Amino acid sequence: MNPISELLKSQFNINNAQISKLNGYANINYLVQDAQRKYVLKEYRYEPRLLEFINAENKLLDTLSEQLPGYFQTPVKANNNTFIVEGLQEGKIYRLLYYIEGALFAETKHSKELFESFGAILAKMDKTLQKLHSPAIEARRYEWDILQIDYVKKFFKDIPDPADRKLVEYFYQQYNEVVRPKIPELRHCIIHNDTNDYNVLVAGDKISGIIDFGDTVYSLLINELAVAITYAIFGKDDPIGWAKPIIKGYSKTLPLEEKEIDLLYYLIAARLCLSLSKSAHEKLSKPKDNYITVSEAPAWNLLKKWLSINPIKAADEFRKAANLSGIIKDPNNEDIEKRWNHLSKVFSLSYPKPIKMEKAAFQYMYDNQGNTFLDTRNNIPHVGHNHPRVVAAGQRKMAQLNTNTRYLYDEITEYSEKLLAKFPKQLKKVFFVNSGSAASDLAIRLALTHTQKPKIAVMEYGYHGNTQVSINISHYKFAGKGGKGTPDNILVNTVPDTLRGKYTDEQTAGKQYADDFIKSAEHNTGMIAAFITEPIVSAAGQVPMPKNYLNEVYDFIRSQGGVCISDEVQTGFGRIGTHFWAYQSYDVVPDIVVLGKPIGNGHPLAAVVCTDEIANSFNNGMEFFSSFGGNPVSCAIGNEVLKVIEDEKLMQNALEVGNYMIEGFKNLQKKYNCIAAIRGSGLSLGIDFVKKQKTKEHDTRLANKIVNELKINNILIGTDGPFDNVLKIKPPLCFTKKNTDELLGEIEKVLKDQSETIL
Ligand code: PMP
Repeated sequence: MNPISELLKSQFNINNAQISKLNGYANINYLVQDAQRKYVLKEYRYEPRLLEFINAENKLLDTLSEQLPGYFQTPVKANNNTFIVEGLQEGKIYRLLYYIEGALFAETKHSKELFESFGAILAKMDKTLQKLHSPAIEARRYEWDILQIDYVKKFFKDIPDPADRKLVEYFYQQYNEVVRPKIPELRHCIIHNDTNDYNVLVAGDKISGIIDFGDTVYSLLINELAVAITYAIFGKDDPIGWAKPIIKGYSKTLPLEEKEIDLLYYLIAARLCLSLSKSAHEKLSKPKDNYITVSEAPAWNLLKKWLSINPIKAADEFRKAANLSGIIKDPNNEDIEKRWNHLSKVFSLSYPKPIKMEKAAFQYMYDNQGNTFLDTRNNIPHVGHNHPRVVAAGQRKMAQLNTNTRYLYDEITEYSEKLLAKFPKQLKKVFFVNSGSAASDLAIRLALTHTQKPKIAVMEYGYHGNTQVSINISHYKFAGKGGKGTPDNILVNTVPDTLRGKYTDEQTAGKQYADDFIKSAEHNTGMIAAFITEPIVSAAGQVPMPKNYLNEVYDFIRSQGGVCISDEVQTGFGRIGTHFWAYQSYDVVPDIVVLGKPIGNGHPLAAVVCTDEIANSFNNGMEFFSSFGGNPVSCAIGNEVLKVIEDEKLMQNALEVGNYMIEGFKNLQKKYNCIAAIRGSGLSLGIDFVKKQKTKEHDTRLANKIVNELKINNILIGTDGPFDNVLKIKPPLCFTKKNTDELLGEIEKVLKDQSETIL
């Protein structure tokens, strides 16, 4: 007789039973059927603590079965009057439970009614568990408990794709920020902790049972719901919509507190992170074990989708499902009024109805009304809003040391070395400041001091910052509204625009524009200290320098004793996809490079990089000191930004997604007559809208219509250019092809609508 049959006979008086193996995560289960009924026999490897735990679990099942008969697997007493028996094989112990009929929740048709009944049975179960005490369960520290998420932190590194890993790191950081401080205030009790869709049974349109208490822990009451919801909403298009009936059903029986509900969004994410990092780790040792990875794909899908859900929206919907008042208040104008009490109107606000932002994550921004915006315009959070590694780098260093360059500290040397390694060897000195404006200002000071010449050549529509020196070199400002006109020492280069400018042949325009400039500057020969431009002139409407333009102009400037400055504030750090710095795409090497915006991913950090000779000339006795420039916190952040760009291959992503986007816009250009040019490369694009292709007359109205319509459809985009008719697209570099499809789809809706109105 087989040992299991023998055990059943000798210990439980079960004869002639049919026995089949069931799949289990950590132990072996047998389905046992005799003439009367079905049972589940569970087999374990003996450990003293396990025994203690199983005893506690049996007691728990007994209590639950008493309170809610039929829903739980009552343990069967063996002949020796205990619930646990030793097997014939040494080291094995067994227990027998009654079997509950029902289909697996995972394999039944889902309905909102079923989900509500799921919530209700969970609440009934938890009401009983709240009264139960068990030293063995309360003492348990278990990796599958969300409260013990720190145990799996060491597995994050086992998630192979850094772009996936960052999501887990992000939600873990949010857990630390949002959930952890609240834990002491929340209700704790014993919970099932694993009501995944394979542990929940359904008969008809109702839940008929909850099985497998192997994961039971003493945790937060709300974690019961977090786990249940996580698995129930796998694969759902509208996960919030499906979570709501569970919350509704639950809270009718066991009312939830606002502070518990408000954490659900983060607890669900935490459970996903826990599961995903554990499976990533276990896959390393058991790559072929399907059981480990069974929920991996739907969990990743859900985590990615979760990011696109505004946490405020989730909390609002969850509260309402629990029959509590929502957290989103109607928008009012108080915020705007308050702002103008203290701030000058010189600060503009985007959109006729401004947005109040609350949070952001990677390419998404969340407002206080529950909207999630796809950010296509902000090139400052270069590696993504609130990238967890960048945040952590800043937090760590801020808690350790923040001082200035008058002391020795490792961060500045480490970061300088890393940053300068991105430049050719002649650019070997770096100055750290706190804004692109301060960097442009310093770049001009360096050039003036080094060359001892008075004049600066600048680019038409160029913008380099808000200090007096940078305003003086920003045609966009001094020639724009409120500007005082061209300062005496400034020469303005006509922007070499090949769409509306004097020269339009891409092959020859660069040389022609350069020749014109050189001719116009001839009478200043010998007096020009510097020439400054961005390689793609942003405020001109993302106009890239045409081929051969920069080398011709650089040669001229240098031949008369000046230096060349590339402002890479907008274009640097891999944004253009083909090169780390945009000047590289023109085969020139500047003498001074201005860095800002993306360098600190939003932290106020900027830099000037220059040659040894220029740095030496500047060392003339006058000290250069910036209170904050190059402090350890900024350097740690800058360093992490560089590492993330490399680890997540963001420059390659910019190229790939940028090319995909260009193709998409080319398709729109074929269908609609209003796109005159698609300029730029990588994730630095300008789309020039015109009234008619022939006339190239700018269509400011259409570009602005797109901006406003897209805002209504939750996409942030901006315009630029002297006529404000160019859509500028400069999203965080983690932008995806799927995001691109969404962007193109929404733009097309406006274009379609527009072409229909014209017809
Ligand atoms: N240079 C360029 C090309 C810029 O776009 C900007 C900012 N828009 C600056 C310099 C100034 O940078 P900041 O706003 O950090 O002072």
